[in-house]
Amino acid sequence: MRSIAIFGAVGVLVAGIALPSFASSGAPVDATATLQQVAFDDAQSLVVASQATAAPLDRGTYTATTPEEIAEKKEKEAAAARAAAAAAASVASTPRNFNPGNYELVSPGSGEVRYPLPQGSYNQGRTIGGGHNGVDMLAPQGTPIYSTAAGVVRASAESIGGYGVAVMIDHVVGGQSVSTTYGHMTYGSRQVQAGQSVGAGQLIGFVGSTGRSTANHLHFEVWYGGSLVEPYSWLAANAG
Ligand SMILES: [Zn+2]
Repeated sequence: MRSIAIFGAVGVLVAGIALPSFASSGAPVDATATLQQVAFDDAQSLVVASQATAAPLDRGTYTATTPEEIAEKKEKEAAAARAAAAAAASVASTPRNFNPGNYELVSPGSGEVRYPLPQGSYNQGRTIGGGHNGVDMLAPQGTPIYSTAAGVVRASAESIGGYGVAVMIDHVVGGQSVSTTYGHMTYGSRQVQAGQSVGAGQLIGFVGSTGRSTANHLHFEVWYGGSLVEPYSWLAANAG
């Protein structure tokens, strides 16, 4: 039932999401954007630690033996799944008004490359591979998100496919063209618009769980000329 519950929650979220809006926003669509658009369907998938550890406990308490008991157990589980799906949809669709004055407008650090979340504010989740094009940086809703380098915002919208509320930024880092994507932000939390220039470490939005996501986290992608880079090692080597 657990997997069905998650599927149900995702279905509710996806049902309310328009098709990628940046494709028709007038923003230039380069090769990188096309790759990212193609990739976003498979880009987001997150296993939540609390859900993973709950599974054995659920099985351990499954003591029903008669058909009636099993039917009752299944009905209770179905009700719990519906409640979880409703709760997830409610959280994801609740607009939040953020006051950026409560947060640093520029992240700490002085390097050309900065961490997209404050150091110490997140745990490392899934990285690239298996159709997942970024890293899942697990952090509480409302954690500030910073542009990882100076650049120009290519896309900024409340719904970009599975990314949900997302921002995409084009940079030049070390003389090379680099594009970054920041997904699953909280509704109403974006601080930048398409076409806007941003500085390294500039506040761009806040962590949420919009789009294809089941828990608060930042989905962060790094592309060099249309090729994926593993963001955790890239940040470790470049950010400061
Ligand atoms: Zn992800």
